[in-house]
Amino acid sequence: MKNYLIVGAGFSGAVIAERLVNQLDCRVVVIDERDHIGGNCHTKRDSETGVMVHTYGPHIFNTDNLEVWDYIQKFGKFEPFVNRVKIVYKGQVYSMPINLHTINQFYGKTLNPKEAREFVEGLSDKSIGEPRNFEEQAMKFIGRDLYRAFFYGYTKKQWGCEPSELPASILKRLPVRFNYNDNYYNNPIQGIPVDGYTAIFEKLLDHKNIEVRLSTKFDRKFDTAGYDHVFYTGPIDSFFEYRHGRLSYRTVYFEKHVTDGDYQGNPVINYSEESVPYTRVHEHKHFTPWESHDKTVYFREYSKETTESDIPYYPKRLSADMKILEKYQDEVEKLAGYTFLGRLATYRYMDMHHVIAEALTASKKFIDSAR
Ligand code: UDP
Repeated sequence: MKNYLIVGAGFSGAVIAERLVNQLDCRVVVIDERDHIGGNCHTKRDSETGVMVHTYGPHIFNTDNLEVWDYIQKFGKFEPFVNRVKIVYKGQVYSMPINLHTINQFYGKTLNPKEAREFVEGLSDKSIGEPRNFEEQAMKFIGRDLYRAFFYGYTKKQWGCEPSELPASILKRLPVRFNYNDNYYNNPIQGIPVDGYTAIFEKLLDHKNIEVRLSTKFDRKFDTAGYDHVFYTGPIDSFFEYRHGRLSYRTVYFEKHVTDGDYQGNPVINYSEESVPYTRVHEHKHFTPWESHDKTVYFREYSKETTESDIPYYPKRLSADMKILEKYQDEVEKLAGYTFLGRLATYRYMDMHHVIAEALTASKKFIDSAR
């Protein structure tokens, strides 16, 4: 019987583990340096309020990939959920992502979809050809005023740099709509697991041939002899002991508050002004509208540069990072017996559904070659 080691118990690691033991005659050890499974998707009931809290910030499952959706539903029931985000700017509440309501409210107008499209086209910076960065992307598609109100300050707070230093792809994650659809995502499938994400991970990893070892770090001292293959989902620079330098990440941290009733009436409210030190406030009882709780717990989210002791969240992918990444990728290619996958091991900005899709593809490829 083959033995496989999986480093990391987030979606990449848990999906690979589940696929391997159910498709091959093998034993799998999953290690994670944290004391819990689920990586950044981990959820836990708050002891003071009973609310299911997304420990590392809001995770709303959304996808257009039916294979991923069919797969993940085998491990837990999802309730339909539509993420409707609000944003506060200069004492007013607007709808986010930018839609017809945002545009009409911001400019004090009652435009219809066609008029709004023409109006916003008129605001766009025509001097920009192919946008080379976040700022140019915004100036080209929504013009200076909407950009400065809703993106500039928020992005500076979240990423700690000028939006002109960031890739245009970050802004492309968000739609701009000329109707009143205020769904934060474009993907047709959207939901939240009824019993939280941790329950899904418990089910993914529930097999007699999977052993999970928590609070176990993968470092030089870790003995990999005896494993036929290693699936590594930790940070790629840490694997190589930072020999080519550190890749930059933003991290977030939360300030927790508990109060009675309903604090803000919505799951997520963003704050785009630079004078407000946090980027957003999330109130987690609104992620489970099918539950009822007298008390409520909400978190103010702050962003900062990642230091050695912080959890890396968002890969910055600045040009200096991409040069360092190339060196690590060259080393990965030379390694035999390892597969690198997931957000940290590939240094990519990935949503949950991307991570699951990648793990399904990688496990299929591996299983086919192992048979
Ligand atoms: N963004 C912004 N204002 C907002 C929401 C998002 O400026 O109210 C920017 C910000 O730079 C963010 C990017 O748009 O990183 C993409 O937003 P998304 O919600 O996809 O980011 P996530 O937090 O999911 O990574």
